[in-house]
Amino acid sequence: MSSTITEPRRYDHLIDGVAVASSADRLERRDPATGRLVAEYAHGGQDEVDRAVAAARQAFDDGPWPRLSGADRARLLRRFASLVERDCERLAQLDSQEVGKPISIARGEIDGAVGHIEYAASLAHTERGDAWTTLDTDFVAYASQVPLGVAALVVPWNFPALILAQKLPYALAAGCTAVIKPSEFTSSSAVEMVRLAHEAGIPTGAVNLVTGLGPTTGQALTSHPDVDVVSFTGSTQTGRLVASDAGRNLKRVGLELGGKAANVVFADADLDRAADAAVYAAFINQGECCVSGARLLVQRSIADEFVAEVARRTRTLQVGSPADETTDIGPLIHGQHLERVLGYVTAGEQSGATAITGGGRLTDDGLGDGWFVAPTIFTGVAPSDRIFQEEIFGPVLSVVEFDDADDAVRLGNDTVYGLANALWTNDIATAHRVGARLRSGTVWVNTNVDGAPALAFGGTKDSGIGREVGHEGLAEFTESKTIQIRSGDRKLPFPRRNGGVA
Ligand code: NDP
Repeated sequence: MSSTITEPRRYDHLIDGVAVASSADRLERRDPATGRLVAEYAHGGQDEVDRAVAAARQAFDDGPWPRLSGADRARLLRRFASLVERDCERLAQLDSQEVGKPISIARGEIDGAVGHIEYAASLAHTERGDAWTTLDTDFVAYASQVPLGVAALVVPWNFPALILAQKLPYALAAGCTAVIKPSEFTSSSAVEMVRLAHEAGIPTGAVNLVTGLGPTTGQALTSHPDVDVVSFTGSTQTGRLVASDAGRNLKRVGLELGGKAANVVFADADLDRAADAAVYAAFINQGECCVSGARLLVQRSIADEFVAEVARRTRTLQVGSPADETTDIGPLIHGQHLERVLGYVTAGEQSGATAITGGGRLTDDGLGDGWFVAPTIFTGVAPSDRIFQEEIFGPVLSVVEFDDADDAVRLGNDTVYGLANALWTNDIATAHRVGARLRSGTVWVNTNVDGAPALAFGGTKDSGIGREVGHEGLAEFTESKTIQIRSGDRKLPFPRRNGGVA
């Protein structure tokens, strides 16, 4: 099936359920495969951000949302999930057209978004607190997790719907209200998902969206004094700016940042599965994936044969139109990013590595109007090379050989990032020991780029602060509040013996 959405769409901000235009210039989005105009968005300035935050503030302070029962919030979130599921094909096409991702991947992304909304609904329904009933005679206390308030949700372009769904339903389940800033390149699915949230019956002021550019619209939102919590996904570089603004304003901040995952293959692994997964992990979404397995570490005794097989399977990948059902790899997000990725290919060659497959831009067979790069595998890479150290965020895989588990751990951890790593072995002791020593928020064993809504996700080191999704995803948007109830007289002038605060 090819894309059924052919007319360019035009979106305004959504503030308290009303489409609000901007006085500023509009932003254009062109299909990265063809250069065709596919969407136009409003460009939010301080005024629109102020209005959106004010709407969210009022919906939090005066509105029903934070005071609804968990069951009611869960019911509306489930309805939201079913509407996203109903519109799966349209949302997938929007993301496919704007990101350049193959439609098959985009459909999986929307399915994943539905899973998160459903899971967050279950959290809203089942969240509970603690009670202390043996503190003293006539003295009890209970603690509950209360919503933080207005949440600013900033989303990147690579998985626009999925990453929004890793934030918004969890914020809503907690009882927060939200203002979303999607990426300037991929805002359409976010606008349409906000409309679906409203259609589901979630109060309009509880979910607002302002489109625009990062340094203007995004910064105005993340540094806004009336925002209580910022949940940001994007590059480490931008994350540092957001964190320093949050530090100045003493706001809670969650940061999901860059990665450079190692995919460690031991000689005793199921090498057929490991080879498939190496290709998948390196090249899914054109390598524009924070957990992409961009560093393949292979045990020396099997390296030649295994890497040759990975290269053979990589050459079978179909690069082409994202709308084509058989496409495995689409174009990169934009021309500047293409230049950046090709710059890394050049850097790899200059440092003495060898591109055993791929190694450049693709322009033949109708690809000349898009930003296509051939899936590329470098061997002969030194661990100090830039292509091994830096996040490329494109279809470029660097291979390094290792001798034993210690060597694999040393190489795996030889990066500033710590988002995810994977290892392949049939030895349970190796799985436990190496898994424990790889420094990342997630370690996959005999799988890669995997997960489930129940499993918290996030990074160590330069990959971020905090955890998203799962129960921790709800905790990102809450804080503990203790109610202490004394029904009789206090026995002591100061409550020290009971561990009081005096
Ligand atoms: P950016 O950091 O460039 O942008 C992310 C978002 O922040 C965008 O909406 C952007 O707007 C906005 N933004 C930019 N500057 C500011 C600012 N000063 N203040 C507030 N907001 C701002 O990242 P990309 O969109 O390029 O995404 C790719 C990066 O995201 C990669 O490093 C990748 O690893 C990381 N990522 C991490 C994930 C994780 O879960 N850890 C998941 C997915 C991606 P605009 O689009 O207008 O620039």
